Amino acid sequence: MKKLQLLIQRALLEIQILQIRLVIFLLKQKRTIPNLPKPKYIVLHHGGGDWSFYQVNNHHKNKWGFKSSLGYYIGYHKWISYNGKLFIARRDNEEGAHTVEKGRPHYWNRNSVGICLQGNMEEEQPTESQLNTLKKELDNYNIPIKQHKEIFATLCPGKNLSKWLSENY
Ligand SMILES: [Zn+2]
Repeated sequence: MKKLQLLIQRALLEIQILQIRLVIFLLKQKRTIPNLPKPKYIVLHHGGGDWSFYQVNNHHKNKWGFKSSLGYYIGYHKWISYNGKLFIARRDNEEGAHTVEKGRPHYWNRNSVGICLQGNMEEEQPTESQLNTLKKELDNYNIPIKQHKEIFATLCPGKNLSKWLSENY
C-alpha cells in the first residue's frame, strides 16, 4: 500500500515537472497560453491612428513578438475596425499586452480584456458601426469598464470615446 502511494506521488511529481517544462518551452517561444481565470475588467483603448488591425499586429510583432494562441501578435484581446468588424486576437483567459500600471506590470494584462477601436478618438469620432459592436461586447461581458488613462498616463482611449462611455455606461 505504501509502495503504491509512493508511486502515485512520484507520478504526480513527474506531471508537475512536465507542466513546468511546457510553460518554460512556451515562454521561450514567446507564446501566451489560455490559462487564466475569467477577466474582471474591460480596459478600453483607441489605436491612436488609422492603422488597421493587420498593421498594428505587424507593428507589435516586430516590437515584442508575443504570439497568442490564436496566432496573432497584437497586444489587445479584441479590435474593432472603422467598419465595425470585430477581430479576436487573444482568448479572454490569455494574457494580453495592452496595459501596464506602475508597480503592477502584469495585473491588468492578466485580469482584463483589452478592447481597442481603430482610430484616434482624441480627434475623430468613433463610427456608428464601431459603437454598435463595442456596445454588444460591453453588454455581453457586463463587468466593470476601465479606460486606459485611468491606469496609465495617456490620452487613450481619447476624449470622444470617453464621452460616449460616460453617456452610455
Ligand atoms: Zn490604450
